[in-house]
Amino acid sequence: MRERLQSRIRDVPDFPKPGIVFKDITPILADPETFAATLSALRARIEQAAGERGIDHIAAIESRGFIFGAALADRMGVGFIPLRKPGKLPWKTRRAEYMLEYGSDALEIHTDALAAGERVALVDDLLATGGTAAAAASLLTEMGADLVGLFFVIELAFLAGREKLGAHPADSLVSYAGE
Ligand code: AMP
Repeated sequence: MRERLQSRIRDVPDFPKPGIVFKDITPILADPETFAATLSALRARIEQAAGERGIDHIAAIESRGFIFGAALADRMGVGFIPLRKPGKLPWKTRRAEYMLEYGSDALEIHTDALAAGERVALVDDLLATGGTAAAAASLLTEMGADLVGLFFVIELAFLAGREKLGAHPADSLVSYAGE
C-alpha cells in the first residue's frame, strides 16, 4: 500500500515558491484503485482510533482535505464539516489564526457545525509544519468536539508538525523522513 501510494505522489520542486517541494496528490486521484485504497486505509485508521463509539463527523481542511474527507464521510455514513479559508463560509463563523513561515493565515468553521460532545475525526492531505492542523484542532475543540484524532495521507516528518498537535492522536499513511 505504502509503495503504491508513494509511486502516485509527484514531487514538484519550487512550487508554489522557490525552495518548497510540493507533494502533488493528483496522480492518486487519477488512479481509481489507489484512490479507493487510500480511502480504505484512512477509514481503517479512523475506525481503530474511534473504537466502538465511532464518530459523528469528518471535518476536513480546504481544499485538498475536502477531496478525501468528503469521500470518507460518504463511505462512513457520517456528516461532513468544512474548515475554510476566511470569507468563504456564508453563515456565522468562528476563526482561528495561525502563523505561516511569512505572515499568518486563518481557518473558519460555521458556529453551528457541530454540537458539544460530538465525535469528530479531522482529515487533511498533508501534515507539514502543523500550523494548519493545530488551528483546525483548536477550532473543533473550542466548539466542544470530542476529537478522536487527526488523519493525513502524507506527513513531512522532518518538519515535526506533530509537535504542534498536543495530545491529539495523529496518523498518516506515508511519512517522509527527509526532503
Ligand atoms: P502546515 O500548516 O505547514 O502543516 O501545512 C499544511 C497545509 O499546507 C496542508 O493543507 C497542505 O495541503 C499544504 N502543504 C504544506 N506543505 C505542502 C507540500 N510540501 N506539498 C503539498 N502541500 C503542502
